[in-house]
Amino acid sequence: MSLDYDRKDCFVVNGKLALPYSYFAGRVGSKFITTIRDQKKIMGVKCDKCNKVFIPPRQTCERCLEDIRNNWVELGNIGEVVNFTVVRYNDGHLPRKAPYILALIKLDGADTPFAHILDGLKPEQVEIGMKVEAVFADETTNTILDIDHFAPSKTKKVQVSERAPAEKAPAAAKIEPQPGLDERRKAMSRKVIITAALAGAATMKNQNPAVPYSPQEFAEEAYKCYKAGAAMVHVHAREDGGMATHDHARIKATYDAIRGKCPELIVNMSSAVGMGKTAEQRISQIIHVKPEMASLNTNTMNFSLLDRKTGKIFIDFVFENTFTMLQNFGKAMEENGVKPEIEVYDMGGLDNTMLIMKQGFFSEPMNFNFVWGVAGGQAFRPDAFLCLKNAIPAGANFTTCGVGNDQFPAVTMSCLVGGHMRVGLEDNIRIPNGEMAKGSYEQVEWAVRIAECQGREPATPDEAREIMGLKKR
Ligand SMILES: [Zn+2]
Repeated sequence: MSLDYDRKDCFVVNGKLALPYSYFAGRVGSKFITTIRDQKKIMGVKCDKCNKVFIPPRQTCERCLEDIRNNWVELGNIGEVVNFTVVRYNDGHLPRKAPYILALIKLDGADTPFAHILDGLKPEQVEIGMKVEAVFADETTNTILDIDHFAPSKTKKVQVSERAPAEKAPAAAKIEPQPGLDERRKAMSRKVIITAALAGAATMKNQNPAVPYSPQEFAEEAYKCYKAGAAMVHVHAREDGGMATHDHARIKATYDAIRGKCPELIVNMSSAVGMGKTAEQRISQIIHVKPEMASLNTNTMNFSLLDRKTGKIFIDFVFENTFTMLQNFGKAMEENGVKPEIEVYDMGGLDNTMLIMKQGFFSEPMNFNFVWGVAGGQAFRPDAFLCLKNAIPAGANFTTCGVGNDQFPAVTMSCLVGGHMRVGLEDNIRIPNGEMAKGSYEQVEWAVRIAECQGREPATPDEAREIMGLKKR
């Protein structure tokens, strides 16, 4: 075949050659990928000679030519964007539909950046220097996409690398102020949502006379809590005599009285109502009133009244929350525009939620309330708190409440680790010095003080709506 022949007579056949092949990432590269897959940890390698930490890891230091293949260091999941581009065309081999953001991300503790997908914000919101956090894939593929993507970091910077002491660290490790979007996010993370649970089903006026029964009393108490710094009230309506009620008219009247007196406040209604109510009585009133938020309970459990000094049982009660109820209540709430506040009394309740959420009816972000000190649930323990906090889905919010003496320790811890706070006479009738609370509002005042000691400030109701994913008013 001459060249002339080729040029004149060549013809084109459009088609594809399928060439099956297996790609091996190499010994070092494979360990990097499988550690992400199996342990959800991102590892780099460090050169002991020049002290550089490389990611993706490699066999040899490109500066010193040292063999560094066995010198693994664990990096955190958080880093910063050092550069980015927006992919604006679609192609079969790309991991996302355009447009998506491809960022160069330098993990805390690493000296080299690597490229990955940045999700969770619009292209125009990306900024160089913003903090981002790895989100690991649920289903693994043995590729770098076992980190599904990076998203704007909600976690404060935590140094977890094993790298050398500060004097050897390069200048780039300096913490620098993050402008723009990051400032907004930081500002919102300083906000703490304070909820006042005004009555509950069991606290009575003979225990604390400020417990509201009538719609008017609920409205007055809600207003005082709002003035003190609460963004939300949690409500179990009562009859005039103080009994918890599932009566639609009474519940609606209570709800309307609060909204009338204090239109800004978020009203979160109970779907537990009180002891001995049927599933139908519990959910139908929520559908009738359609509050912005309602409690959703996650496990069947003992829910008893005991003398905590003697262990003597006053009331023994099984609080029924089957999977079917969790599913039906959750669906009914989402379908009626009521955001569930998911009540978690122990790790099992959280696991129940994680199972049922696979059905896909919960809207993001999910909002959890960790409940401590129920006789039948678990007592407040800081390490158990961290377990729950670390186990909720990424992007979810959490608040907390505690019965009696568990109340203020639990809300203090929640505030300290970035969560929100629920106080109120439903949970505790006293203030931290042991005196009778003048009302739920006095506990709100204490919660505000606790938050301020930690550099956080109470969210307004509209800020709380933004954080918890409620519709704007
Ligand atoms: Zn080196």
